[in-house]
Amino acid sequence: MKDTIVMYPALGSGHLMSMVELGKLILTQHPSFSITILILTSPNKNTTNKDTNQKTLSPQEQYIASVSATFPSINFHYIPPVSCPITLPPHLITFEVSHQCNHHVENILHSISKTTNLKAVILDFFTYSASHVSTKLEIPTYFYYTSGAIAVAIFLNFPSFHQNATKPITDLHMSLNIPGTPKSFSIDDLPDDGKDTGSIGYQFLLESAKTMRKCDGIIVNTFDAIEGRAIKALKEGLCVLDGTTPSIFCIGPLITPSYGGDETGCLSWLESQPSQSVVLLSFGSMGRFSKAQLNEIALGLEKSEQRFLWVIRADLDLEELSLDELLPEGFLDRTKEKGMVVRNWAPQGAILSHNSIGGFVTHCGWNSVLEAVCEGVPMVAWPLYAEQKLNKVILVDEMKVALELNKSKDGYVSGTELADRVKDLMDSNKGKEIRQTIFKMKIYAKEANVDRGSSFVALTKLGQLLKQKNHG
Ligand code: UDP
Repeated sequence: MKDTIVMYPALGSGHLMSMVELGKLILTQHPSFSITILILTSPNKNTTNKDTNQKTLSPQEQYIASVSATFPSINFHYIPPVSCPITLPPHLITFEVSHQCNHHVENILHSISKTTNLKAVILDFFTYSASHVSTKLEIPTYFYYTSGAIAVAIFLNFPSFHQNATKPITDLHMSLNIPGTPKSFSIDDLPDDGKDTGSIGYQFLLESAKTMRKCDGIIVNTFDAIEGRAIKALKEGLCVLDGTTPSIFCIGPLITPSYGGDETGCLSWLESQPSQSVVLLSFGSMGRFSKAQLNEIALGLEKSEQRFLWVIRADLDLEELSLDELLPEGFLDRTKEKGMVVRNWAPQGAILSHNSIGGFVTHCGWNSVLEAVCEGVPMVAWPLYAEQKLNKVILVDEMKVALELNKSKDGYVSGTELADRVKDLMDSNKGKEIRQTIFKMKIYAKEANVDRGSSFVALTKLGQLLKQKNHG
C-alpha cells in the first residue's frame, strides 16, 4: 500500500498553492508518497463569466489543472459544498465552512486509509477544526503555517494573552515581549480579529491556536537567514510562555510558481522598460480598495514620476466599473508612457523575477514577501489584513528590506505619502541600503534549500517523521 499524506488548505489561492508546493517539496525527497489535497468550495463561488455566460477557469483552477497534469502523485479531492449560515467576513469563512465539513473529511480519511497507509494530515490554521477528526482517527496531525516564524510564535501565545488579559486587549497597547521577536511589536500589531474579544474571529483564532499547541509538528514557510532569532527561540521552546511548543520545521522559502500566460501583456510591457526601473503594486488575493483610495494611489504614482505596474482590485461593489470610471480622469492617458494598470490578477512571481522590476509596494502577505526576498526586490510595506501588520514590522525593523508607509488613523494612505515612499525606494540612499540588504537575502534564500542548507535539513527530518507509522 502507498504511503499517503492528506493536506487540507484554507480557501484562497495563496494558501492552497503554498500547501501544494509543500506537497511537491515533500515528493522531491519521498517520490513514493501519494498526496491528497482536500479542496473546500467557497459558499460564494461564482465561475460564470457574465458577458458570455460561460464557465471560466479561475486562476486557482488553472493552477490545479497544471499540477494534476504534471504531478500524478498529487490528487485533488473536492469536498462537497456546504452553505455558510452565518454572515462572516470573507477571511473567516474557511473557519466556519471547514468546521461544517468535518463529517465529509472523516469519510474521506476513512476511505483513504482503507487503500493506503495514511501517514499524516497536514492542516492550515484555518482548517484546524479537522484535527478533531484526525486525532479521533489517531492520524498524526501537522500544521503548515503559511506565514513566518515570528507570526507562529505570536499565534502560539494567543491562548496566554487571552488568559492573562485583565481588560479588553485593544486597551492594552503594550509590547508583546515574546522571546525571539522584535521588541517593537505591540498589541496594536495583532490582526484585528485577535483584539476583538467578543468577535467570532477571536474565538476561531483562539481555538485554532489551542489546537496547534497540541499538534505533532508545525511546518513553517521561512528560513534561518531571515528569522533566525525567532526560529531558535521557538525550537528551544522559549516563545510559548505557559505551554509546550510542537516540533518546528522551517522549510522555506517555498515559492508558488507563477502560472497562466501573459494575457494582460504586462510581461511583454516589462520587456520594453529599463532595468530595475519599474515599481510593482500588488495586494494579494484579497486586497481591495475604495474608489477614493484608488484615486490617491493614482495621484501618488503620477506624482512620484516613477514607472509602475499596478494590479488593481476594487471593492466588490465597484467591480462593474471600468478602469476609466475608477481612476482619476485622464490618468491612464497621462501615464501610458510610464505605467501599466492591470485588473484583478497578474502573474506576480514572473513579474517580480523580471529584470525591469526595481521595487514592490506590497500588502505584506507572506507569500509575496518571500517572493520579493527570493528575487531581491526591495519593498514599501502597506499591510491590509490578517497578520500583515506583524509582517510589516518584520520587514521594516527586523529584516530591514522595506520602507514603512504612514497611514492616517482610518487606515487611509494619501497620494503624497505614497509618492514620497516610492521615490525613496527607487531613488534615495535609504532605498539603496535596503536594496543591498535584500540582495544578500536573495543569496541566503538560495542556500537554505540546497544540500545541508537549514531548510533542506528540516525537510529531511520532517520526511523521516512522516514515513514512520506511529509517532504521535
Ligand atoms: N498573486 C498573483 N497575482 C496577483 C495577486 C497575487 O500571482 O495578482 C499571488 C502572489 O504571487 C502570491 C499569492 O498570490 O503567491 C498571494 O499570497 P500572499 O500570501 O502574498 O497574500 P494573500 O493573498 O494570502 O493575502
